[in-house]
Parts: sequence; structure tokens; C-alpha cells
Amino acid sequence: MSLADRVQILSDTAQFDLCDYSADPSQRNPSVPGIYYSSYRGCRVPLFKVLLTNRCCNDCRYCINNSGITPVELEPREIAGIFLSYYHKRYVDGLFLSSGVSRDPDETMEKLIETLRILRTEGYGGYIHLKIIPGASMDSIRRAMELASRVSINIETATRDGLEELSSTKDYGVDILRRIRWIKRLLDRDRTLAPAGHSTQLMVGAVDETDREIVKRIKWMHEKYSTRRVYFSAFEPVEGTPLEEREAENPERVMRLYQADNLIKSYGFSPDELQFHGGYLDPEVDPKYAAALEMDIFPVDLREAPYREIIRVPGIGPVSARKIISIRKKRDLSPDLLKEIGVRLKRAEPFIRFDERQTSLEEWLG
Ligand code: SF4
Repeated sequence: MSLADRVQILSDTAQFDLCDYSADPSQRNPSVPGIYYSSYRGCRVPLFKVLLTNRCCNDCRYCINNSGITPVELEPREIAGIFLSYYHKRYVDGLFLSSGVSRDPDETMEKLIETLRILRTEGYGGYIHLKIIPGASMDSIRRAMELASRVSINIETATRDGLEELSSTKDYGVDILRRIRWIKRLLDRDRTLAPAGHSTQLMVGAVDETDREIVKRIKWMHEKYSTRRVYFSAFEPVEGTPLEEREAENPERVMRLYQADNLIKSYGFSPDELQFHGGYLDPEVDPKYAAALEMDIFPVDLREAPYREIIRVPGIGPVSARKIISIRKKRDLSPDLLKEIGVRLKRAEPFIRFDERQTSLEEWLG
């Protein structure tokens, strides 16, 4: 099979676990296979996303690689060559490299490491996200982290039982969590390794896990393993796999989970503050707003409330909360000032006070 055909298959397969819920497939350029837009601080960053091989000795029941797809592989030098040509033509700003496990985790890791070694030797110093193969040895993980900007291992499910339902070959504790523990330990010992840290990914809706279980797991991942990001992908059935009859997951659910993750990681919420109904977040309502409706701290007085309370006001983010605390020592708070520092007044109004009169929104907005 030609190189172009193999690249097409392996980049199409790599898009299968698209984890950016806002990604728009229509933005893909069919004449340039493998370009994937990742979100970074509100910007869309084009990456070349590809698999080394779609052969896999694991049996994940949702995976496109278990659907009878033609098994193909790229050589490290082929991936490096294609990536560098895309990079020099400014099609992409980085590489996202993953793989099935053709026979043995370390054998696959060696090929992934070789790809990165070629790129670094040939002068490419930019972003490389490498998926670590579940079950890889600590030595191969360390050598990969010397070359990659970021590494990740997918946990796939929130619970051990969930993964057992999906795969008879991958062990949640040994192949995944133990390897994540090693990554954390290596990062703690040597700050030059994988400078963009490590992340993980969950498939939402492939098993009957609740949002509460997922949120508890991601809180645990952030606390125990200092994950930089948790990505979610909405389950989509693939024809020819054992889960082909299962219903696709609603992307809105994934969006709410991203919001909940942000509340936990950036706002310091605990899972118990979020509102779950039968274990699920309301897909129609922003989880911060839903949580605020049940809290007994409101209205908070912005002139004296601590950061922990201000950050819980809908319409106020971490940056605005810090600005309120610094500015209130020097100036009286006013609607104009609050708007200037980024507070979304319409959203925040029912939850705040900042002067003797409880001014109405209509009055503020004139
Ligand atoms: S490990 Fe599982 S999800 Fe990954 S390629 Fe193999 S079968 Fe697919």
C-alpha cells in the first residue's frame, strides 16, 4: 500500500478519539490528511495527529482498530518526513503521535521513541504530544519523556469495573494507573522531562458511568498525579465493533464535564458542591450556575468576601476575582469598574452586593 494511503488510514483512525468537544470536522482539509485542531488558551492550534500503527493486541470493545480495518503501519522515518514537510509548509504547529500495540508495549514504544529522536536530531524543537503505550516499561517511558513536550495515557473510564467491561487485556491498575504514577514520579525528579507535563483522556458513554463517578476520578487524578489536562471524548459507535449497537453519547454531556473539570481544577470546587441528579449534571445548565443556586453564601459582599466565595459567583472568573480583591483596597467598587475588570454583570447580579444600596441591574445598566 502506498505511503499516502497508509497516512490517510492512520490519520483518519487517529481522529477517531477526537477529544476536543468544540472541534469542527468540517475544518479538516481532505487534501492534507491528519490535521487536527487542538484548543490552547482559546486558540486553535493545528497538529499532525497520526498513529504509528492501527494493529493492536488489545481488545477494547469500542475501538475502530477492532472493527476489521486494514492493518497498516508507518515507519518512524516516514512519520518524521511527513511531519517535517507539513511543518515547513506551515500546515501544522506540532505533532500528536499515538499507536496501537502491535505485539509488545515496549516494541511499539521503541518505534515511537525513534520517531521523536529523528525529529529532535533533525532540528525540530517544537511541540510533540506522545501517547505512552499502556504497559510500557519505566525505562522506555523515561526516554520518551526526554524527547516529548507532553505525554499522556488514556484512563478511558472512571472506574476499574468500567475498563473491565471494555477490555479483557488492559489492566486499569497495572497497565494504566501504575504507569501514570511512574510519569508523575519522573516529572517530580527531573523538571526537564516532558516540560508540558502529562494529561489523560476518558471516553464518556462507552459504559454506564455517572458524571459523579467521572468528576470524582478527575479530581483524584489532579490531586494525586498533577495532570495538566483531562480530555473527554463522547462515545460514538463504530460499525464492526462489539459496541456498534450502543447509543452515541451526547456531546453536551462532554461539554458540561469540561466545565465541571474547570471548576475543580481552576476554581477549587469540590465534587460535593456540584449538583448531580441521579448522578448526572444537568446538560441544560452551566454547572457553576446550578451549584450557586444551592449555596447559602449568596449574596456575597464583594467589598469583604474572601476569594473562595467571590470565585463561586456566576460571571466571575479567577482573574476577575483576584482583581476585585486587589482593587477594592484602593477604590470603591462600581458597576463600570466591575465590568472593566471582566465581571459578567448580568450573570453575577443576583449573587453579589458591593454598596449600601442593593442596586438593581436595570439601574446599573442605565
Ligand atoms: S489499546 Fe485499545 S483503544 Fe488503544 S488501539 Fe488498542 S484496542 Fe484501540
